[in-house]
Amino acid sequence: MPAIKPLVAFVGRPNVGKSTLFNRITRTKDALVDNMPGVTRDRHYGDAQWDDVQFTVVDTGGFIDDEADDFAQSIRTQVCQAIEDADIIVLVLDGKGGVSPYDDALTNILRPVAKPVFYVVNKIDSIEQESALYDFYRLGVDHFYPVSAEHRYGLNDFLSDLADAVTAINADSFVDTDQEMIRIAVIGHPNVGKSSLINCILGENRLLVSPIAGTTRDTIDTVLQRDNRIYRFIDTAGIRRKAKVKKKLEKFSVIKALKSLSRCDVALIVIDAQEGITEQDISIAGYAYERRCSCIFLINKWDLVNKKETSSQKYYDDLRMKAKFLPFAPMLTISALTGRRVPRIFNVVNDVYPQYCSRITTGELNRILKRAVDLTTPSLHKGRRIKFYYATQITSKPPTIVIFVNYPKAVHFSYKRYLINRIREEAKLDKTPIRIFFRQRGKQPK
Ligand code: GDP
Ligand code: GDP
Repeated sequence: MPAIKPLVAFVGRPNVGKSTLFNRITRTKDALVDNMPGVTRDRHYGDAQWDDVQFTVVDTGGFIDDEADDFAQSIRTQVCQAIEDADIIVLVLDGKGGVSPYDDALTNILRPVAKPVFYVVNKIDSIEQESALYDFYRLGVDHFYPVSAEHRYGLNDFLSDLADAVTAINADSFVDTDQEMIRIAVIGHPNVGKSSLINCILGENRLLVSPIAGTTRDTIDTVLQRDNRIYRFIDTAGIRRKAKVKKKLEKFSVIKALKSLSRCDVALIVIDAQEGITEQDISIAGYAYERRCSCIFLINKWDLVNKKETSSQKYYDDLRMKAKFLPFAPMLTISALTGRRVPRIFNVVNDVYPQYCSRITTGELNRILKRAVDLTTPSLHKGRRIKFYYATQITSKPPTIVIFVNYPKAVHFSYKRYLINRIREEAKLDKTPIRIFFRQRGKQPK
């Protein structure tokens, strides 16, 4: 099982310290994110861990539209989106600047929310400054956490309570009823045809239970059965509910995508054939990649494409060039409108999923490693040979391998890619992400 991580959204006015707090909480985990050539963009979300509790943090400030005409409206939308999609909301307030008129409005929006809400007053750099809190109590909130993102003051108290809330959500809602199900998320930017696709799929297949409660009270997943297999489409209600988001607020849809990606095995990345493959498509694909999902590209609205002028091969080549980090993701042209090739999606899912779950035996893995190294030796590190001692698969979904090395940091990215490709080829895992981590030999488990 991949870790299913609740989503914690940080909301608040600009300059209250959201991104400082975000960096504080996520920094230690960033090193684990694979190198991803082909996508450059700001990171506004990251993985965090407190004790053994894992969660994902979103800094919604990153999704604020600087060009929005109305600042208050923009923040309001940001907060409403977080309320809808996140599991826990953290309102960050500015302890140095004091209460602002916006804070009243924000607390009013948050008060009736049924999800856990944390009120954090930041920039309280020491115990002497805690008196700044008093002013905030007129907002009618029971408890504030005084913290200093910059100096770590108060963070332990806040984070342990946050971790408790995360644990409660895990216990509440992520019951393991869906172990036998293939969990599928349908993602893509607005208007590519996600809801048409869901409707097309639902129209053709037998619904097992519909609708069933998803992870949290307000996400609805759809479970359907087809040829004795069970598929769970994540957050179908969220997709079918017509997005009222205006074009300039499209950035917000990222939170939605993140949310369903953190719970899925297979991401169906829907692309509008008429628009071609856009930067936004690639950026959404990047999220799926970082969430370690297996991915399938669906080029939708194929009915509108002039087949004389353009071929699916063209899209395929374009995709391979633009999404270099997903060389393993199959592509299928479909029409959600006519239903053309929509059933084929299930065939592709059934190809991808077993690979995503597969386990390579340690014996086989080490034979592959030895052959790979014999075939192409890694370049020297400061005049010394890099030695690969031993490899073992630590988890699946996706297959994740640890290789023990004498100089883990010295293994070049291109050599890592080479090893991944060798494993792909020899273990016949051409359609799933594969992750490799290098560790110092001494840390090898007995
Ligand atoms: P955001 O716009 O909400 O993401 O705010 P930033 O994280 O960019 O922070 C805005 C400013 O507040 C920066 O100049 C930070 O250095 C400062 N700041 C953030 N956290 C603290 C803190 O705990 N104490 C103090 N004194 N300043 C802080
Ligand atoms: P979403 O925002 O991604 O959920 O997109 P929708 O499913 O609402 O589709 C956006 C628009 O594209 C609607 O007008 C659909 O009728 C249209 N559309 C969706 N799929 C297809 C398709 O395969 N062919 C054509 N011609 N139109 C489609």
